[in-house]
Amino acid sequence: MDWIKPASRIQTLPPYVFARLDELKALAREQGLDLIDLGMGNPDGPTPQPVVDAAIVALREATNHGYPPFEGTASFRKAITNWYHHRYGVKLDPDAEALPLLGSKEGLTHLALAYVNPGDLVLAPNPAYPVHFRGPLIAGGKVHSILLKPENDWIIDLGDIPDHVAQQAKIFYFNYPSNPTGATAPREFFQEIVTFAKKYDILLVHDLCYAELAFDGYQPTSLLEISGGKDIGVEFHTMSKTYNMAGWRVGFVVGNSHIIQGLRTLKTNLDYGLFAALQSAAETALQLPDEYLYQVQERYRQRRDFLIQGLGELGWNVRKTLATMYLWVPCPPGVGSTDFALSVLQNTGIVLTPGNAFGSGGEGYVRLSLIANCDRLGEALSRLQQAGICYQ
Ligand SMILES: *Cc1c(COP(=O)(O)O)cnc(C)c1O
Repeated sequence: MDWIKPASRIQTLPPYVFARLDELKALAREQGLDLIDLGMGNPDGPTPQPVVDAAIVALREATNHGYPPFEGTASFRKAITNWYHHRYGVKLDPDAEALPLLGSKEGLTHLALAYVNPGDLVLAPNPAYPVHFRGPLIAGGKVHSILLKPENDWIIDLGDIPDHVAQQAKIFYFNYPSNPTGATAPREFFQEIVTFAKKYDILLVHDLCYAELAFDGYQPTSLLEISGGKDIGVEFHTMSKTYNMAGWRVGFVVGNSHIIQGLRTLKTNLDYGLFAALQSAAETALQLPDEYLYQVQERYRQRRDFLIQGLGELGWNVRKTLATMYLWVPCPPGVGSTDFALSVLQNTGIVLTPGNAFGSGGEGYVRLSLIANCDRLGEALSRLQQAGICYQ
């Protein structure tokens, strides 16, 4: 049936680098390589036991077996707004200002479908989490990429956006702490972007999926704790990272009630929301004692320090990240991202993500995920050393 062509919204998407990487990984496995996969953002630990237990209890409950309410269960929405209050001191209305999602990726993309008309202009940084520009592209929007610069610590420079572009722009996707760069933005940046969005009437979409994976006392900023943030913005969260629940597909969006209503209207035509048993489990996760968070943070902090030290011995000068589960590492001078990632894979069995998977602005870098324990990271470092791969 090759005469039936997919819609152009699919055909015009740039290739998804992760899919290509998967093929190469499969090939390397066939050749018998013992892969150390630091490529994906898939946490390696189990879901916390109390969350699994809550899911089992909820699974046995017959009232959970039917269609869930479109807008999510009242108790999960309440848990979300309680968590916001506890974490950020922000008060939200659980009925109008919080909506559970089938993972934040789903919501980020559908938000674009709900708000972007063909030809509408969307602002997104480059490099970025691919969903932030692919969602708008699927919706037929035009994306104006804002090139991020290492000399600005990978923070968006709003001064780089020409006035006529800002005037046309409808939505602005951004994400700090950032995937892939690991960068964090100061509170003043959030204040500036709110002022910018108000001036030009732009909807701000902040992806705060690393709200809890922060180290050394750093506390990520929520758009909603910034004065005026809720007037023009929404914020996305995921259970995938902090709670090792990537396979459960649970996320949520909070913020401006009109914007959330638009997304909810679209979603009532697409899905029935999340299985109620999963919402019950997610609710338990949000209520875990802070002690759980400290353990998770400590695990990633140790890995970060271990890897930065080891890479330093191989000539890499990698700056300490204050958050996320990633290191953003420059390729040796003159080597492109894809070539470097491929040669590392072939010579060592270590999987890295080429920076250009996140847009042209990621060229010259690779992303390493801290998703292996220090033993495996140590093995990775010694393989790099043996293969003579260092920064020079
Ligand atoms: C991992 C990640 C997500 C999570 O997506 P889910 O669909 O909730 O698993 C969202 N945004 C960013 C920036 C991420 O790195």
